[in-house]
Amino acid sequence: MRKKIIAANWKMHMTQSESEAFITTFLREIGDLDEIEIVILPPFTAIPKVTELLTQTQNIKVGAQNMHWERSGAFTGEISPPMLRDLFVRYVVLGHSERRAMFCETDEIVNRKVRAAYEQNLRPILCVGETLAERERGEVEKVLSTQLRGSLANVEARELLETVVAYEPVWAIGTGKTATADQAQEAHAFVRQLLREISDDATAEKVRIQYGGSVKPENARQLLSQPDIDGALVGGASLDPRSFAQIVQAGVPND
Ligand code: PEP
Repeated sequence: MRKKIIAANWKMHMTQSESEAFITTFLREIGDLDEIEIVILPPFTAIPKVTELLTQTQNIKVGAQNMHWERSGAFTGEISPPMLRDLFVRYVVLGHSERRAMFCETDEIVNRKVRAAYEQNLRPILCVGETLAERERGEVEKVLSTQLRGSLANVEARELLETVVAYEPVWAIGTGKTATADQAQEAHAFVRQLLREISDDATAEKVRIQYGGSVKPENARQLLSQPDIDGALVGGASLDPRSFAQIVQAGVPND
């Protein structure tokens, strides 16, 4: 049984004081819910504040939205894996489509970052997903296979168990267009099949695969009830503590 994992990708939003207001309201809304693992992904500058506010909680972790692969060096403006560990960060988003498109991140670069994450005991949230043009050309499987195999090259099964894969169709990110539950489930089942090929059946069964792309309180329950959808990576709707709390609550099993 895979524990669902729902993450708030704040992107380039939230000052320290805005983060504090968010966390205060979110904790009140969420109560003592512990069936879901929650990850908050603030901008680097708000990580210490959010970590401090979450010290009393068990199931809410803090993550980063990116990092460099080197431990240190002349890389002006970059943040290294040990720097994130120093801030008690547990997860790191790697290969987000915005970084692939706007910051020229290739699968090779993402792979370096993924392997650097394991070295520092950071858990990657590895993003993969096709553009609208690729979907229309019938290339979803080809794109997912290339991105997943490239980003996870030379990764061992025990490392894969520390990894969360986020399937994020690029055409659904920030557009208000969500994949239907069937479209998302089909892609997730394919990603799990790729994970079997990359590692083995038992490992692939344990890896959690999140869906991302315009997840909102209104569509979360249907998406999160699909057999291979093990959580959500939420952008826009995660900026409102009440919306994000509703999305998390939608992931709680009914029985
Ligand atoms: C994201 O940025 O990962 C994302 C899924 O954004 P949104 O929920 O706004 O589509």
